[in-house]
Amino acid sequence: MSSESRMADEEAETGELVYLNGPRDLEFREYEVPDPEPDAVVTEVVRSNVCGSELHVWKGDHPLQDCVLGHEALCRVSDLGEKVETDSAGNPVEEGDLVAPVYFQTCQACEFCRRGEFYACDNDYEHTGKSPDIWPHFHAPWATHYYIYPDNHFYKIPAELEDNLNVAAAANCALSQVLFGIEEVGIEYNDTVVVQGAGGLGLNATVVANEYGAETIVIDGVDKRLEQAEAFGADHVIDFRELDTVAARKARVDEITDGVGADVGIEVAGVPEAFVEGIDLLRKGGRYLTMGNVRPGHEVDFDPGKLTRKSIDITTAVEYDPWVLYDALQFLANTIDEYPYERLIDAEYDLEDIEEALEASENRDLTRATLIPSR
Ligand SMILES: [Zn+2]
Ligand SMILES: [Zn+2]
Repeated sequence: MSSESRMADEEAETGELVYLNGPRDLEFREYEVPDPEPDAVVTEVVRSNVCGSELHVWKGDHPLQDCVLGHEALCRVSDLGEKVETDSAGNPVEEGDLVAPVYFQTCQACEFCRRGEFYACDNDYEHTGKSPDIWPHFHAPWATHYYIYPDNHFYKIPAELEDNLNVAAAANCALSQVLFGIEEVGIEYNDTVVVQGAGGLGLNATVVANEYGAETIVIDGVDKRLEQAEAFGADHVIDFRELDTVAARKARVDEITDGVGADVGIEVAGVPEAFVEGIDLLRKGGRYLTMGNVRPGHEVDFDPGKLTRKSIDITTAVEYDPWVLYDALQFLANTIDEYPYERLIDAEYDLEDIEEALEASENRDLTRATLIPSR
């Protein structure tokens, strides 16, 4: 048999993806696995997590629909485009390698990419919101396959993380975001850092601040989260159920800092009141990073003169420069034995049981679920 007729006899390989039809309306769809463009990579999804942002989309609190979901993923290279020899850090890559993709694209041509501000790329979601009917179908990783586009950074997984795949799958979201934000706000050795909120971003911020040599204070009001904060290196925790006024919490931070106030504040609570409080907890000349308040339409009274009188610098972070994912993977590899990262991803579901995973995530029966496609 000639190779051509053998090709014709072979059935094209197909894969499945989770399609969002509308709010709380998911279905599985099957598409042909694409051949990669010369600069692209086709992968099989090994793990993909359920992040808070997907919960919003699934519940309909977000305009996105007619799309594929997912963004935190770890993938195995199954088909390399003919021109792809390395990952985005120049490390040789082969079929079978485990890689972590950045979940948004950087077009390198828009106003912001041209200025080197890749985190602000205007075309960041050009691929991810597309209908799966559009080739190459596998635009997001709640699926058996994921297509890494030519303008999508991806990095090989360090060997230290091969036994911690769930943790590695999350690196492209919270840890990368936190590393980028902390680079923006700047943490110096021996700084005192207040972290407002001990969810995924807060725990990652605590670990990074701790590794940078800061004294860390974490504020939250949920037992499990306060315990996690301590396990992730918090030197002090403040339970806002006990210290239930801003004045009481400020007094505690002042006590820890000999009356000076914290050098750095990191807001990862996602409530506007935390922003107002955070400024109160800082010293004169302090620096503040706000990352948790992202939803539009949530307002609060605030006296901007407080910033001026205390000479506070404020910075923000949403997304990150794509090469920060490389640093995040190295950071995890270097610290994987020192912190209980596995606690951050505490439930595994077969991708087929996606509805169950979403309901459990919505009810907060778990910290974070990972989805494993069965093939
Ligand atoms: Zn995420
Ligand atoms: Zn761009």
